[in-house]
Amino acid sequence: MDARRAQCCCLALALAGVFNPAPAAEHGAPHWGYDGDSGPAVWATLAPEYAECGAGRRQSPIDLPVAVGLDVPSEAPATLEVYHHEHSVDVVNNGHTVMVTYDEGDALTYAGKPYALVQYHLHAPSEHTVGGQHFPLELHLVHRAADGELAVVGVLLEKGAHQSGFDPVLAHLPRAADEQAHVEHVAIDVDALLPAKRNAYAYLGSLTTPPCTEGVHWLVLRTPVELDAAQIEAFAAVLHDNARPVQPLGERRVSTTGLDGAP
Ligand SMILES: [Zn+2]
Repeated sequence: MDARRAQCCCLALALAGVFNPAPAAEHGAPHWGYDGDSGPAVWATLAPEYAECGAGRRQSPIDLPVAVGLDVPSEAPATLEVYHHEHSVDVVNNGHTVMVTYDEGDALTYAGKPYALVQYHLHAPSEHTVGGQHFPLELHLVHRAADGELAVVGVLLEKGAHQSGFDPVLAHLPRAADEQAHVEHVAIDVDALLPAKRNAYAYLGSLTTPPCTEGVHWLVLRTPVELDAAQIEAFAAVLHDNARPVQPLGERRVSTTGLDGAP
């Protein structure tokens, strides 16, 4: 098994663990990437299990409208409950992204259903665009319900003031692909990674990486969070370009919801 394949297995297993309790990638998932002959345009052709990346009609990310949806509130209000305690976390560079995993902590209630935060990771530049504009980074907080359904909170990150909530992750950033740092008793305050105002775009989409599985509830916060230039540079240097291009909205509708019950 070469190093490239090992990274892909690592990611496939991580995704399988997130989306499906039964690991589905024991034989190793086919290699995929972000450019050239393994890039997003050809993901669907790389393996039968990636077919949804091309044939799907509810794919992510999408271009979000600058000012629409406030008059069409979501039927499904969401509540994000943040618990403050120390975690032991793993910070993983799997060759595609930098991911922080943990097995206890924050919870999201969406449409009356509880989802637990299982990992968060970053994309550079942002995957979702707003009015066609990218942001330097996008944070994805992946939440999973007991039945395996996913809800992902997306946070757009822009250049501005220093945000100390990201410092524990930056301090342990694995620079090389396939590198992992286990951090004991780190106080990662997810609350500090989120904007104070938490109204969100809500739409039904997919994983933004192969196998591009659909049925993911997306909640992209409308207010960006600021990071200073050095923090953005530190993340971007490790992440390279790992953003899937925006996908057609198709028949879907983007609505808005307040994450803490606020409209
Ligand atoms: Zn992501």
